Amino acid sequence: MSENNYDALRYKKKTVYEKAGDEIVEKAYDYAKRYMRFLDASKTEREAVAESVRIAEAAGYRAWNFGQPMQAGDKLYYNNRGKNLFLFRIGTEPIDCGIRITGAHIDSPRLDLKQNPVFEDHDLCYLKTHYYGGIRKYQWLAMPLALHGVVVKESGEVVNIVIGENEDDPVMYITDLLPHLAQNEVTKTVSQAFVGEKLNILVGSRPLDCDENNSAKLTVLNYLHKTYGITEEDLQSAELSIVPAGRARDLGFDRSMICGYGHDDRCCAYPSLTAMIDADEKLHTTMCTLVDKEETGSDGVTGAQSSITVDLIDEIARAMGGNPATVRANSKCLSSDVAAIFDPAFSDVFEERNAALLGCGVAMCKFTGARGKSGTSDASAELVAWVRRCLNEAGVVWQTCELGKVDLGGGGTIAKYMANQNIDTIDLGVGVLSMHAPYEVIAKVDLYEAYRAFHAFYRF
Ligand code: MN
Ligand code: MN
Repeated sequence: MSENNYDALRYKKKTVYEKAGDEIVEKAYDYAKRYMRFLDASKTEREAVAESVRIAEAAGYRAWNFGQPMQAGDKLYYNNRGKNLFLFRIGTEPIDCGIRITGAHIDSPRLDLKQNPVFEDHDLCYLKTHYYGGIRKYQWLAMPLALHGVVVKESGEVVNIVIGENEDDPVMYITDLLPHLAQNEVTKTVSQAFVGEKLNILVGSRPLDCDENNSAKLTVLNYLHKTYGITEEDLQSAELSIVPAGRARDLGFDRSMICGYGHDDRCCAYPSLTAMIDADEKLHTTMCTLVDKEETGSDGVTGAQSSITVDLIDEIARAMGGNPATVRANSKCLSSDVAAIFDPAFSDVFEERNAALLGCGVAMCKFTGARGKSGTSDASAELVAWVRRCLNEAGVVWQTCELGKVDLGGGGTIAKYMANQNIDTIDLGVGVLSMHAPYEVIAKVDLYEAYRAFHAFYRF
C-alpha cells in the first residue's frame, strides 16, 4: 500500500459488472441458459436427482454402493433413494488430508397432496394439499399450477407423473375471492385470511356422464386410471406435489436476472454439481452432496441430518486406508444455500451494511440462526480467512451477508449439521429476491460467481 493510497484501507463492495468485466458477464449469461434447463427439468428432489445423475454419468461418473472398492481417480456417485445424491471423486493425496465437500439442497417449498386428496364440493372436484416448507400462502392462488411426483402401486411399481408443463397439458388452480366481494376479507390479517385447508386444487367440473351418482370426482379418477393405471387407493402411497407451471424466464430488459421456481436451492445445487465435474480435481478428494428435506428441517433418511453423510465419508476413509475421524476433522464444507438479497421495497427489514446485494457476487454467511445467533454453527475466523484467500486468488467476486435485521426473524441451512460432524463448514451461496415465492429471482452473475467459487474451492 502506497503512503497516500488510503482507499486500500477501506473495504468497498462492488458489483460483478465493475469487478470482473464483460468477458465474465458473457460467460455468466451463457451458463444461465444451461442452469435454466436444469431448473425446468428438476422441480422436485426426485427430478433433480435424476437430472444430476444424467449429467454426472455423461461426465464419466458411475454408480457406487456400500462395500464396493474404490481407488484414486475414481468418479463415483451414490444415489440415496432417488432423493439425495452424493458425487465423489477420489484424489491422489492421502485421504487423511480430508475431503472438499459442497452441500446444497434440492427440495423447494411447494404444496404436497394429502394421502386422501380427491373430494367434490358443489359439483367441482378438488385435491387437498398440505404445504411443504415455508410459504406465504396467498402467493399460490390464482395462477397455473402443475402436478409432479410418483405413485407407488402395491406391487412396488413406480408411476411417474408430470401434468401441466407441456403447452397442451391441462393445468391446476387455486381459486381466490373476487375483489367485489372481498369487503370483509380485506380487513382480516394475512394469517386469518389465508389458511392451509383452503389451498385446494381445482381439477375438474364435468361429470363422467349424466346418470345418477356420477360426478366430477369420478371423471378425475377415471382420467387417472385410464392415463396411469392408478386408483384412488393408490394415491395413499404417493408423493405428489403441486408446483408453479411453466419454465424459468429471463428477467429484465437487460436479461440480467432469472425468474423461476425453486432457485432455493437449485441455484446452488447446479453450480456445486457442475463445478465438481468441471474442476475434475486430481489431488484432493472432492464431494458434492445434494440433499432433500432442508425446507422442513433436514430430518429423515434423505435429509442432511441422516447418518448417510457420515456413513459415506467414513466408508471412503476406511476404503482408502485412512482414519474416519481424521478425515472428518480435516475436511472442509461449503454449505451452498441461498441468501436473502436486500430488497428496496422492504428496506426496513434489512440491515443495509450487512445485507447481500444483487449482482455483487456469491454471498458468504459466517453464521445463520435467529436473534442471538441461536441455532448456528458460526464458522471460525480461520475458515473465513481460508475461503477469502481461495476466492481472491481465483478472482471470484464475493460478499459477506446476514439474513436481515437482528431481531426480526431468522433461518438456517444444512451448515450446522455438517459442522456437528466435526467438519469445518461455512455458508456460501447465491442471493435471492422473493425467496420461497412461487417464482423467485436471482442475478445471472451471482449464479456464475457461485460456480466459480465452488470450482476454486475444489482445487484450492
Ligand atoms: Mn435453502
Ligand atoms: Mn429455503
